[in-house]
Amino acid sequence: MKHIVVAGGSIAAATAVSTLRAHGWDGRITLVTDEETPPYSRVPLSKGVLSGALDRGSVTLPALPDDVDVHLDTRATALDVQTRTVTLSRGTDLRYDGLIIATGSRPRRLAPDGRQGELVVRTLADAAAINARLRTARSAIVVGAGFLGMEVASTLRATGLAVTVIDRDPPLRRLTGHWLADIVTAAPAETGVDFVLAPRGVTLTGDPVTGVATADGQTLTADVVISAVGDIPNIEWLHNSGLRLAEGVVVDPWCQAAPSVVAAGDVATRQIRPDLYRRTPHWTNAVLQGRLAALNLLGVREPYAPDHYFWTEQFGLNIKIAGELPLQGTPILLEGDPSSRSLLAQWHRAGRPVAAATVNLPLPIVRLKRLATVAVERS
Ligand SMILES: Cc1cc2nc3c(=O)[nH]c(=O)nc-3n(C[C@H](O)[C@H](O)[C@H](O)COP(=O)(O)OP(=O)(O)OC[C@H]3O[C@@H](n4cnc5c(N)ncnc54)[C@H](O)[C@@H]3O)c2cc1C
Repeated sequence: MKHIVVAGGSIAAATAVSTLRAHGWDGRITLVTDEETPPYSRVPLSKGVLSGALDRGSVTLPALPDDVDVHLDTRATALDVQTRTVTLSRGTDLRYDGLIIATGSRPRRLAPDGRQGELVVRTLADAAAINARLRTARSAIVVGAGFLGMEVASTLRATGLAVTVIDRDPPLRRLTGHWLADIVTAAPAETGVDFVLAPRGVTLTGDPVTGVATADGQTLTADVVISAVGDIPNIEWLHNSGLRLAEGVVVDPWCQAAPSVVAAGDVATRQIRPDLYRRTPHWTNAVLQGRLAALNLLGVREPYAPDHYFWTEQFGLNIKIAGELPLQGTPILLEGDPSSRSLLAQWHRAGRPVAAATVNLPLPIVRLKRLATVAVERS
């Protein structure tokens, strides 16, 4: 193998590249990303970067090795696995011996194509665009009360904006279930964030967008409207490639999508049942899969088991969850106290532990992950 092409320029791609070099692979590497910047962390974007409390330095990741050929602002537009060729937006083709697909995902949008004014948070440019609006904005609507939407609401509220969050379900409940959601979402209510329940969904109003209308006839307007309503994997460029696609690039337990082609991170999906595929769009999973995809391309056979760990920071709460979402039912409280919003809890299914979470309680991540699979003695 002489030339490995990496499509995508974020954490899964960067981890794959550093893994290749760390394992002594000294062939040619070309990384192609449609962003204008080398890989950076998205995690602070919805937090301090959005408000301006953190500068761009806070998103810095270790630099790519000097000997990697990096094509910025360049999109992979097609893949031919027969000729092992990636076509680029800048008109050139790249022949590869091994390909790592790490093109991640992009925000789902609610406004029709071409309508201006709907804001999202995925890239540095997105965060900068919202930050620029904060100089004059007094109010914000956040559509979507999942982890990202609630982080954005927390950050905007801390800057003094009047914030309304709107969703089909109560905040965080789809993911964390009643028990945890009820504990942690008391915090935003105390800071004055309004929540509007819109069980039949919303549409964005105005052109450019200035508000939302619920299917039940309620209308709201604000200076900024931000959608945080999920993500769509970037797979359009693979549509005629012959790879198996199912709302993501379908990979086997070795991150392989086809001979000499592996995929990692938010773009990769695995088959759970004949009719069910699942992505794991979290930071630590992108790191894990980036590493394993690179190793498996080099012939080091290491099977992948999804890393279901992630964290979120919002309204003064540091929440860490290990295990499969959604959390279901009432957990066993192992430490702390829900009323003080500092706790460690463990969820069970069929008598076996399946997930564990902390809220504002320091615990090594390895212990939290272990609690998601191992029962503990209770006094
Ligand atoms: C604001 C925000 C906050 C987050 N906070 C947390 C958190 O607190 N905890 C947590 O666990 N996770 C968090 N996440 C999720 C985490 O950041 C993602 O899981 C992670 O970024 C996935 O990495 P990735 O490399 O797979 O994909 P991405 O980060 O999506 O990167 C894909 C890259 O490929 C590029 N690309 C796409 N298509 C092409 C193409 N055709 N050609 C070339 N390049 C292309 C994209 O521009 C991008 O650079 C957050 C995400 C966001 C957006």
